[in-house]
Amino acid sequence: MESLCDFIVKELNVGVFVLDPQYRVRLWNRFMAHHSGVKSEDALGQPLFELFPELPQKWLSKKVDSVFVLKNFAFTSWEQRPYLFRFQHNRPITGGIDFMRQNFTFMPVRDDAGEVQAVAVTLIDATDSAIYQTMLQSAMQRLEENSNRDGLTGVFNRRYTDARLSDEIQRIQRYQAEPFSVVLFDLDHFKQVNDTYGHLAGDEVLREVARRVQVVLREPDVFGRYGGEEFILILPQTDQHGARVVAERIRAAIAAEPVASGEGTIPVTASLGVACFSPELGTPQAVTHAADEALYHSKHTGRNQVTVHSPQQAAQD
Ligand code: GH3
Ligand code: MG
Ligand code: MG
Repeated sequence: MESLCDFIVKELNVGVFVLDPQYRVRLWNRFMAHHSGVKSEDALGQPLFELFPELPQKWLSKKVDSVFVLKNFAFTSWEQRPYLFRFQHNRPITGGIDFMRQNFTFMPVRDDAGEVQAVAVTLIDATDSAIYQTMLQSAMQRLEENSNRDGLTGVFNRRYTDARLSDEIQRIQRYQAEPFSVVLFDLDHFKQVNDTYGHLAGDEVLREVARRVQVVLREPDVFGRYGGEEFILILPQTDQHGARVVAERIRAAIAAEPVASGEGTIPVTASLGVACFSPELGTPQAVTHAADEALYHSKHTGRNQVTVHSPQQAAQD
């Protein structure tokens, strides 16, 4: 029976080793020998921390000591501490994992009097779980990223920009941060673009407009598709003068040249409205409504231009 046990411990595809109270190795199975490069006959009787100086001695000895004292099992998982031994693994490097991920169990080995005379340790290779979890995390991240994006243009979608607008207002109210501005813009005579060149060409114009705008934005600016051919920009820490400059730059970038499409070159312009956050425009609805009023003003006084919201201008319209 004992030889069967020996056979199993030797052949198991799990690391098994036994330590005495001085952390000397009393058993070292084939898995440990294979992965560490230290043969059983060289390990036996040697203090573990001399064989593997890279082990986290303080942490590991505390763990082992606790099993001697408490006479109880202890566990550690790769999620708390990715590995103890720097073992290679045989998965593709593309998994993004350097050393074999390891789960450990520490078991008290008792003598006839019930005293713990040694601690048996098992090491399970958890690299596959770790790779799976890393892949899952990056897939989730991509999914979340995609759920914030507009399918046609790749810029943020309305759901995301609405949330960012609320965040921005909360940030100001909480920290008295500098105000932000909102720019809304809408392509001019876009129905005509669709009617003349077709819906697919219209889509290409939308994508190209998004690209042109992205080029002129700064890092913290949030750019999203607000509706069909209407876009929104949230410009953190930007007053209405700064926002006018950005809006003008965007207007110019969109109108710079016709969009080349399979159906011909398509002239494109946009009308823009700007509103800056203020106590009077203290909600997401109020500030976007103000930008929309300014946009309406741009539309009705000639298009291809920028209007900054002011109570006087709104009253005129
Ligand atoms: P205005 O200058 O007053 O804005 O005129 P307009 O023709 O652009 O305005 P309107 O809002 O009447 O028309 C918007 C058009 O945009 C109608 C709709 O078919 C088109 N549109 C909305 N979403 C898309 C889209 O995803 N792709 C394409 N190709 N067209 C779209
Ligand atoms: Mg339009
Ligand atoms: Mg429109």
